[in-house]
Amino acid sequence: MIKLRLRIACDPALEPFVVRIAEKDPQCDEDAVVAAQVPTGLVYRTTQVTFRIEGISHSEIVGDVLLIDPRRQIAHRLIRSSSPHNTLLVTEQCDQLCIMCSQPPKARHEDMFRFFLAAVKLAPPSIQIGLSGGEPLLHKAALFRFIDAVFTSRDDLTFHILSNGQHLTRDDLPWLRQHRERLLWGVPIYAADPRSHDEIVSKPGAFEQLSNGLAILGRAGAALELRTVILIQNVQLLPQLADFISRHVSFAMTWAIMQMERIGFGRMNWAECFFDNSIDFSSIGTAIDLMRARQQDVQLYNFPLCTVPPAYRDVAALSISDWKQKYLPCCAKCGLRDHCGGFFAWYREEDGFRGIQPQ
Ligand code: SF4
Repeated sequence: MIKLRLRIACDPALEPFVVRIAEKDPQCDEDAVVAAQVPTGLVYRTTQVTFRIEGISHSEIVGDVLLIDPRRQIAHRLIRSSSPHNTLLVTEQCDQLCIMCSQPPKARHEDMFRFFLAAVKLAPPSIQIGLSGGEPLLHKAALFRFIDAVFTSRDDLTFHILSNGQHLTRDDLPWLRQHRERLLWGVPIYAADPRSHDEIVSKPGAFEQLSNGLAILGRAGAALELRTVILIQNVQLLPQLADFISRHVSFAMTWAIMQMERIGFGRMNWAECFFDNSIDFSSIGTAIDLMRARQQDVQLYNFPLCTVPPAYRDVAALSISDWKQKYLPCCAKCGLRDHCGGFFAWYREEDGFRGIQPQ
């Protein structure tokens, strides 16, 4: 797995700070250049500070933007220059408790926006950066201020915001319209009937709030990606959900049908929730057929390609982020490997798909 946290050594009395690992000549005060190579790692210096990074080569992190935490002697790789999968965790707080949540919520919130702003200003040109949680819109005012500040100084960046879509109001319409070209909203919906959706997210009234949020995104002309994790609890409801989306949320750019991650609540509830689509694809296939017939875009995220019947493989995306992706030993001899997104790093063969078949 790609390391997102690096061991460092620097003065523990310093406040946290953001730097960019520079190729050669520094372009700004935040650029860190190699000052020395020592047996324990590489020593970097900016105009202000010196620090050492251990356990990784310069070429692996050049161009990366790091948040240095001197107290914990850790560097967080906030933005990796070579990756298309950069996501900033806005908060671990959430107002739902989804039964398959990969990042179970925490009560405490630490506002990181000042570091995120410093980091994003140093990002490579023209990239899309993810903003996720928890529920980012629990801190809506600060989030909107952060996005405004980024767009003031960088007109080449865009954001993908993962949100439960329940905290938008009509007052947000002007702001949403102002930024609609540069924001893509990823919003989960688990069923077309309120009771099933609310049960999956463990929040009464969630579906109704979500419907209001989707209506506001629609009125704003926002770019929307709907997301549905398939579970034992909702897989048979997918055709009904496809019908609902194509009738009532047809402005969505795409609908992502997703396999679950075996981590967080997903690991705890794996046996009760994981649906093995390698054995039965019928409900998913019917939902895709319906979307295609109505000329609505649909995609499959996190599905190993051999678990998808050939007629549907064209909608399977390489969706698993590089830092948490793996393949199985049997994949080495598979002709589909280059087109297959593989597995999450925490996937286990013993309770996973029964139909993995190298092609
Ligand atoms: S065998 Fe591995 S590489 Fe081949 S399609 Fe299946 S999961 Fe993908």
